[in-house]
Formats: sequence, structure tokens, C-alpha cells
Amino acid sequence: MKKTLLFLALCLCLFGTAHAATAGSVKVVATFSILGDMVKNVGGELVAVTVLVGPNADTHTYSPTPEDAKKVAQADLVVMNGLHLEGWIDRLVQASGCKAPVVIASAGITPLTMDDEDGGGAKVTDPHAWQDLENGMRYVENIRAGLCAADPAHAGDYAKNAEAYRAKLAAMHAWVRDAFARIPEARRTIITSHDAFGYLAHAYGVTLLSPMGVSTESEASAKNVAELIRQIKKEKVTALFVENMTDPRLMEGITRETGVKAGGELFSDALSAPDGPAPTYLDMFRHNVTLMTQAMAEETRQ
Ligand SMILES: [Zn+2]
Repeated sequence: MKKTLLFLALCLCLFGTAHAATAGSVKVVATFSILGDMVKNVGGELVAVTVLVGPNADTHTYSPTPEDAKKVAQADLVVMNGLHLEGWIDRLVQASGCKAPVVIASAGITPLTMDDEDGGGAKVTDPHAWQDLENGMRYVENIRAGLCAADPAHAGDYAKNAEAYRAKLAAMHAWVRDAFARIPEARRTIITSHDAFGYLAHAYGVTLLSPMGVSTESEASAKNVAELIRQIKKEKVTALFVENMTDPRLMEGITRETGVKAGGELFSDALSAPDGPAPTYLDMFRHNVTLMTQAMAEETRQ
């Protein structure tokens, strides 16, 4: 009898703990802010999300800290982009001793290539796949599958959240397509400092020029910049943009040289702070596409 009671008490206790710990009980580490936002949307209150590379920070050149290794060690799930964006992740996961499953959010997308930063004409994989919202929907599906595997008891909740979020991404995708479609094709050319919008250009019919290659680490060479200035003068470039995580001085110089208008600050690889113009993945698209299409629609040559 005593044993039975004890067993019952234990069961109740375990059940009670599992039940009470549902809110924020799945610890997810996301490598950078955009993925963190996606995980929050799919996980809702069931997950506690930790982001390694925060708002306005550069994932390409990030150096993990001992604190990051602790966060990864305690994670139930790690979500990363893949496509060689996080060159530092394998070492971090290894060093942390983390046994948690790792979701590669970009798995299953069709990768694009881009010019290598050294200017030698070689092609490398473009990691910025989230800049096409159809890819973003694929990310959401991969994150949903990862959360369901880590926490099968709440698979239904994750499916419901993912479905609702995908509908919002699909609506934004349609809005972005329409916004660019209204601009004559010849005017859909812009310049950005860091070549992060290849997927956006491919998905929505925009031509992009950029003085830097894939990594923000590389300095644009004088030869590249001279070539770009020649191209700007020759082609109908409507606007030039800087990104939130790169040095604006180079683009300011090109603006002075060419007279092409500065279109403002785009968010490519990182979200803004919560009180900024792009605190979520959806806000990022709204902000970027509004700036781009405004610049394209205006007569910008001075
Ligand atoms: Zn980038």
C-alpha cells in the first residue's frame, strides 16, 4: 500500500512537473537574429529562444564566446542557417559537448551561387537564402520538424503555429512581388554594400550590383570600386544602399563620386533592435522593399 502510494505520488509529481514546465521548456539556440524570430513564431510560448549573433551584428565574422558554448551545451535544439554562413558553428558545437539535434534551416532549398570575394571569378554558395520568402517558408517547415522531434508532445501546437506563420510569409511574398512588379524592369537596379540580396533579386526580378563579395570581412579593392563607379555611370542605377552590419564609408564615397542617391539602410543579415525599423523577419521585408521601391520609383539622378 505504502509503495503504491509512493508510486502514485511520483507519477503525479512527474506529470505535474511536465505539465507546469510547458511554457518555455524547450531551450532553443538560434545562430542569428532572423532565425531566432522564426523559432519564436513556430515555438510560441513553448520555447525559450537564445540568439548567438544578435541585432545589427555580423554572422559571417562572428567569434563565439565561452558564454555561447554554455548556451549551446544547455540547448535542447540548435537551429542554424547552413550554406556556409556560420563558419564557426561546428567548432562551437564540438567545444560545447552539445548532444542536442541541429536543424539546418536552409535544408531543401535550391542554393544560388555568387562571385567569390577575391574577384577571381570563382563561384561560391550564397548563404543568404532567407531573402526569398519562399525559402523562408521552407526554413519554417524545417524548424517545425525540429521542434516536433525535440518535443513530440506539442507537435500539434508547432504545426498550428507554423501554419499561421507561413500564411503571413505567403502574404508578404505576394506583396513584395507586386511591389517590384509595379516598377519598370529597367529601373529595378540597385547597389548594396554587401552582396546579400541575390535571392531577393532572383525571386523578385531585381538587378543588384555590389562592390563586396560574400563576406563582410573582405575590403572592396580599389579596382572593384573603380569598376563599380564606371558601371553606375553607364547603367541606370537608381539607388545605392548601405546595410545595418557593414561599414557605410565605402558607399558614402561612391555616392559622392557618382551622384547616385543614397537610398537608406537595408537589413540583410541581422534584424534591428526591438525599437528599430526591422525587429522581425516580416518587418525586415516590409522595410527593405519599401526603401528599394521608393528609390526605384523616384527620379534619382542629380
Ligand atoms: Zn551576408
